[in-house]
Amino acid sequence: MKFRGKDAKRTAVLGADEFMTIAAGAESRKELVLSFEYQFSGDGTYTISLQPHADSALHQAEASMKVELLNTIIHETEAKAFVGTKIKAANELRRAAKKNRRAQGAYIVHDGTCTDSEADDLIKWTEDAIDKIETVRACTASSCSELVDTWFGSATTQEKLQESVTSKFDIMASKVSDTIYSCNPANCSSSTYAYVYPSDISQTIYMCDLALTYPDYAESVQTIIHELSHFDTIAATNDNAYGEQTCHNLAQQNNENTTNTADTFGYYALYSNTCFRNAPSSYTVAVPPCKDCSAGTGNRGPNDCSGVSNIVAPAHESQIPTIPDDSCAWPNDGICDAPQYCVYNTDYSDCGAQVWHDDPNNGEMMEVHTQTPTNAPNNAPTSFEPSSMPSSLASSEPSSMPSDAPTNAPTNAPTNAPQQTTCRDLKIVYQNHSCCGLNTTKAAMFDTINVTCGDILSSYTGSECCEADEAKNATMSIQN
Ligand SMILES: [Zn+2]
Repeated sequence: MKFRGKDAKRTAVLGADEFMTIAAGAESRKELVLSFEYQFSGDGTYTISLQPHADSALHQAEASMKVELLNTIIHETEAKAFVGTKIKAANELRRAAKKNRRAQGAYIVHDGTCTDSEADDLIKWTEDAIDKIETVRACTASSCSELVDTWFGSATTQEKLQESVTSKFDIMASKVSDTIYSCNPANCSSSTYAYVYPSDISQTIYMCDLALTYPDYAESVQTIIHELSHFDTIAATNDNAYGEQTCHNLAQQNNENTTNTADTFGYYALYSNTCFRNAPSSYTVAVPPCKDCSAGTGNRGPNDCSGVSNIVAPAHESQIPTIPDDSCAWPNDGICDAPQYCVYNTDYSDCGAQVWHDDPNNGEMMEVHTQTPTNAPNNAPTSFEPSSMPSSLASSEPSSMPSDAPTNAPTNAPTNAPQQTTCRDLKIVYQNHSCCGLNTTKAAMFDTINVTCGDILSSYTGSECCEADEAKNATMSIQN
């Protein structure tokens, strides 16, 4: 039976409201509805037993029973319909959030239940979670030996780490931006930070008040990593143990369960060697191996972020991948997002390969495109039809469209313009302009007919909606 109920992150110590006192000889009954919690494979006999947490005092061996189930198909049909509705809603939320992102910078997707302030916090925690995830992706059993020993045990080989942990963080990195957050849901106890439904394809993380208001910044970041690890599509972890000390103990026993324990994944990432860029300025972090896991107490250190660049704007060339990929967590399909939302060379589908060098004029890095994006429009018409051009562009079209257009193009460009911008750069600017971007189809036409860069420039400057960018155009010159 596949579990499709809740997996929560809870405090190591339960809240007072979560205990029940049963007098000697007394009994306690509670009715459970299992049809939502478990996926039934058909009618028949099922065994129900309990899997306790690592530090549980429950004698689970006696807590087992067999039940005969009929009509499971009814529950499965209902569950499927519920999932379909949820996916549809999630896709709509993601679409809406991407639209808003242009105005807001970094973004997270939430279902409308988070206040602006909670959404701001979630952005900060998510960015820091991404940093931590990226850091442990680079860890090996030898390069991060203390970290690995602390959370997975000294018997962990590199092969085991790669297979059971690192590969899961690779998936987490690629899926973190698909998350939908829901704030202050109804099903939170006083000791619940957050919960998810591991089989939930909408990848919704329900953030309880405890996580949203927790005084230690790191714990909220850890909560996100913990919850992400639960999803079947990421690491399918369980809650075998809660809390740093319990997880640490599990690892010191070289318990196999460490590599499928959500809190272990969370603390492993949390104690990796990267600061919290978004933590309050006076924030101090718990130092390795873990909080209260050593003999001493108060093991806290400074959160030194000096030298750490912003996630979307690397300060140094060495931080930019030399082999372009699509690893950016914040891409917007169809638009080049580097460097505003992605590090150079991490939005390959939309930006193509990017190289950069110091701008001789101001010493800052500037970008030069070397390859057309792989998803450049491929529906370009085979012939050019002036009648399809927006009316605001029409006046500049007839005289500039012939193939000998370059002869009049230079008159549009200032004589003192820098020479670094290529025709391709110009076209990308055109395509990515928030307003001109609507004319992607038209831009694609430039690929297929004998139109020059001069034509592109005159169309661009001739467009009413683009005129605000004429100052930018003035810095460009054309290299056909
Ligand atoms: Zn959990």
